[in-house]
Amino acid sequence: MKALDVISWSIFPVTVAAVLLGAVWAIDAGHAPSLVAGIGTLTSLVLVVTLERLLPYRKEWNQGQGDLRTDLLYLPSYFGINALVQPLVAAGVVVGGAMLSNALGIGLWPSEWPLLAQFLLACLVVEFFDYWPHRWLHEVPFLWRFHAIHHNPKRLYWLNATRAHFGEVVFRGVINAVPLALAGASAEVLALVGLANSLIGLFQHANINFKLGPLTWVFSVGEMHRWHHSQDVSEANHNYGSNFLFWDVVFGTRFRDATRSGPERLGIKNDSIPASWWSQLSVPFKTQKND
Ligand SMILES: [Zn+2]
Ligand SMILES: [Zn+2]
Repeated sequence: MKALDVISWSIFPVTVAAVLLGAVWAIDAGHAPSLVAGIGTLTSLVLVVTLERLLPYRKEWNQGQGDLRTDLLYLPSYFGINALVQPLVAAGVVVGGAMLSNALGIGLWPSEWPLLAQFLLACLVVEFFDYWPHRWLHEVPFLWRFHAIHHNPKRLYWLNATRAHFGEVVFRGVINAVPLALAGASAEVLALVGLANSLIGLFQHANINFKLGPLTWVFSVGEMHRWHHSQDVSEANHNYGSNFLFWDVVFGTRFRDATRSGPERLGIKNDSIPASWWSQLSVPFKTQKND
């Protein structure tokens, strides 16, 4: 096996294990969860952007296609909306969760478990609460108008992770925030879930030629997420998992064509989505051709 192959196969598992296990260790050792998540996210960002230059999946996808300015504008709106919406929803729901827990006489969240086990359980729960909203965004025509903004680019690179209309960010953010807040998961668990979202989300769209092997059954990243961006709808309406693929396996929506390295064309066939961020904001509210 050539050195390049070893790197391609090991980049993703080694990075995920190092960042996430390192974060679990640091939080267990008493470091502030938000600081650990912040450092982990910045490290992941620098690593992914560097690897896109060193080991690109498609060299031409590293070149702007008149989309960079628009994609950069989505970055602060994505984080800003999530920073507002998620704590608001959590604050509302957490009271209901405490009342439910009191009424039942048991804690809803297994806080006595080791942090790593709590984190894995949280991933399983949150993924379920993102699998369905994402699937509805594809299957319900009105919701698709919002999600089309994420799917219209013809290239995939790290900035696609946050390219989402504010309507979609609110919709998914509200539903995502409910389960863990209701169950009463700790700030440590929430910080780890946030870090996993950032790290795996960056690898999901990254223009890096990394290989997954048997992990194509576990993670919704790289090759597996490129199928989700295929211009062929029969391929794209699969692999809905935001970080993992377990719910796609359960609900029969996992897709991979082992005879091809990925979809030949990305984006949406004959779409009329404008290029600028400002004009994209009103797209979902305009009468569509097929209405
Ligand atoms: Zn999608
Ligand atoms: Zn995507």
